[in-house]
Amino acid sequence: MALLLALLVAVWTFFQVRQRLSIGGSLPGALRRRALRVRYQPIYDLATRRCVGAEALLRWRRADGKLLGPDHFIPMAESSGQIREITDYVLEQVLVQLGDFLREHPDLYVSINLAACDVAESRIGALATRLLLQYRVGAGQIAFEVTETGLTDVQAAKGVLAQLRESGHRILIDDFGTGYSSLAYLQELPADVLKIDKSFVDALGHDAASSGVAPHIIHMAHELRLKVVAEGIEHEAQALFLAEQGAQCGQGWLFAKPLTARQFRQLVGRQG
Ligand code: C2E
Ligand code: MG
Ligand code: MG
Repeated sequence: MALLLALLVAVWTFFQVRQRLSIGGSLPGALRRRALRVRYQPIYDLATRRCVGAEALLRWRRADGKLLGPDHFIPMAESSGQIREITDYVLEQVLVQLGDFLREHPDLYVSINLAACDVAESRIGALATRLLLQYRVGAGQIAFEVTETGLTDVQAAKGVLAQLRESGHRILIDDFGTGYSSLAYLQELPADVLKIDKSFVDALGHDAASSGVAPHIIHMAHELRLKVVAEGIEHEAQALFLAEQGAQCGQGWLFAKPLTARQFRQLVGRQG
């Protein structure tokens, strides 16, 4: 029995490793063939219920037509360094797909997820400046999201983030509360918005010890003069409670799932 179990584990591990190697190996081709697709999840003002922007989220359209989620290839791209090329691609795609639309709607913004290596060097700021000039879009309309775990070299990150802010970009701290942040560290970070992780939104209304974390984060954000975006809102009660606690914005399936650029334009168009 133990031998059979060991054999099953070995076979499973073999296929997992093989799949990972094959995904990692075909990423450059996917980039060239434009098989990586950007989707946009609308972000809403919780008080007015109007869409104020969107988060760019990556998908990989595989040969069989299925869309592969970012969790299957972003971590690998981060460890191989391919993530730089991916970040640049996402930024460029956002402007190719929505540049005109953003120019027509100067109040809308799109936020882009950055990886640890993106915030350790000044590359992304230079590219953003060049593309924004080319597409005549304001820097305030492109925001950048960094995770706490992505801030491996806090000193280097502080410099890069400060520069991005000086250029007019907003900085959002993603998945807030899941990393190792301390209040002291947060105070020093050049940031504008805290994004409350979905796990704390899920916990609302339950007895779990974490059910009180979201209100704490909101109060802390207020102390630090940061705005709040709550992630993963699926129920009306969550949206109402978070707004009541002082969270300004939210995103989640209650409002919309990640959309194509066209669907996003239509959704904003329907708002009038
Ligand atoms: P994230 O930045 O925290 O993005 C939010 C994730 O929550 C997205 O998953 C989104 O689809 C999902 N989500 C939003 N609302 C709901 C909801 O109401 N219910 C549920 N169940 N899920 C919701 P997704 O698209 O699978 O992305 C996962 C992570 O992959 C992202 O987390 C982000 O860290 C990373 N990622 C995605 N695109 C990129 C990218 O272009 N570059 C980098 N570096 N990372 C990316
Ligand atoms: Mg994000
Ligand atoms: Mg998040």
